[in-house]
Amino acid sequence: MAKPANTTWDYFSYLDKLPEEQREILRRSEDYIEREIAPYAADAWSAAEFPFEVIEKFKELDTIGYHYPTASGRPAYGSLFTGFLQLQLARTDASLAVFNGVHTGLGMGSIYYGGSEEQVARLMPDLLSYDKIACFALTEPEGGSDVAGGMRTTAKRTGDSWTLNGAKRWIGNGTFADYIVVYARDVDDDNIKAFVVEKGTPGLTTTKIEHKIALRSVQNADVELVDVVVPESMRLQRIESWRDVAHQVLSRTRQGVGWLAVGVASRAYELARDYATQREQFGKPIGSYQLIQDKLFTMLGNVTVMLGNVVRLAELTDAGQATDAQAALVKGVNTARLRETVALGRDLFGGNGIVSSYGIGRAFDDAEALYSFEGTREMNALIVGKDVTGLSAFL
Ligand SMILES: Cc1cc2nc3c(=O)[nH]c(=O)nc-3n(C[C@H](O)[C@H](O)[C@H](O)COP(=O)(O)OP(=O)(O)OC[C@H]3O[C@@H](n4cnc5c(N)ncnc54)[C@H](O)[C@@H]3O)c2cc1C
Repeated sequence: MAKPANTTWDYFSYLDKLPEEQREILRRSEDYIEREIAPYAADAWSAAEFPFEVIEKFKELDTIGYHYPTASGRPAYGSLFTGFLQLQLARTDASLAVFNGVHTGLGMGSIYYGGSEEQVARLMPDLLSYDKIACFALTEPEGGSDVAGGMRTTAKRTGDSWTLNGAKRWIGNGTFADYIVVYARDVDDDNIKAFVVEKGTPGLTTTKIEHKIALRSVQNADVELVDVVVPESMRLQRIESWRDVAHQVLSRTRQGVGWLAVGVASRAYELARDYATQREQFGKPIGSYQLIQDKLFTMLGNVTVMLGNVVRLAELTDAGQATDAQAALVKGVNTARLRETVALGRDLFGGNGIVSSYGIGRAFDDAEALYSFEGTREMNALIVGKDVTGLSAFL
């Protein structure tokens, strides 16, 4: 069956799985993102500054409530729809998608899934309206892949309050977030607990990490906690151990990274396809050469496989059947495919591929961060390895 030239990146028409009402919302939000949010992306990335005006645009975009229907009163459209919402943002710019993902997924997700009903009712409204921004502080300077076993940040309870001490690294939105969800080891029972630390709390210091080569407009911070006092009312009541963090939060957000990866890869594919039809060498568009078509084949093939992965995982999630290992598989595989896809695209652009204003270079750099955060490929491989062999390679 012949397809027209310039066919969609959604080669197998997965979007058709959604009812028309949801596709219409996606069309409107895609249009809004391209018109109102995309213009901030390139300059902010080059300057490594977060464009704070864009928060007003996210308010107007007004799709955040679909991620938390019971807290927002929005219809529960499900994981496939919310996955496509994340993908759309990443097609425009990975940094802005990650800003939103850290706020919506890691930060709000910790509160929504880890908080008591009272905490969710108290804390979520300001987050849903973007009047307050959340972030997620798990990783430490000495504890990345091994953060569960090696967590050094401590929490000590005295009466109705807790005292936190330690350091966190890489915390997205950390320089300006109103709520920093800090994970710390309870010195009394040795379990990992979660605390919502408010901006400005005495003893809390955040310092921007400079000189990043990826996701440059995301403000990642080093966070220091020296005798930071947090009331028990800000300890997330349903997070009692590492198992809760991994299952309630990371398993969901790994799916989110799977969607972001498709977004970045699909835009890279489109940029490469368009460049191939316009750029001429040896008197013809480079897209007419077999070796170039082979690159486009691999790029579109990757996008198609990656999209199939997240679509099926979303269906399993909504059926209550998805496992943490499946989420790890999708995160690890999709970001590896992303890396190959953007590298081929960058290659296809020749020298222009390393100029960030062409878009492909930005995607190439950003893929490196997606590949490493939320569990490196190796960590996700070990989670799946344990699942399929029954043997744990973790120490
Ligand atoms: C842009 C960006 C944004 C981030 N945002 C956040 C955030 O908002 N909040 C947050 O808490 N964290 C965040 N992170 C941290 C991120 O999750 C960690 O960087 C990641 O988990 C890896 O940890 P690490 O950097 O300490 O690497 P390390 O754990 O030191 O790993 C170094 C290398 O060793 C490998 N390795 C480690 N152990 C093993 C093993 N047993 N077997 C084989 N290989 C192994 C790893 O796979 C990796 O290749 C972010 C990171 C980046 C880069």
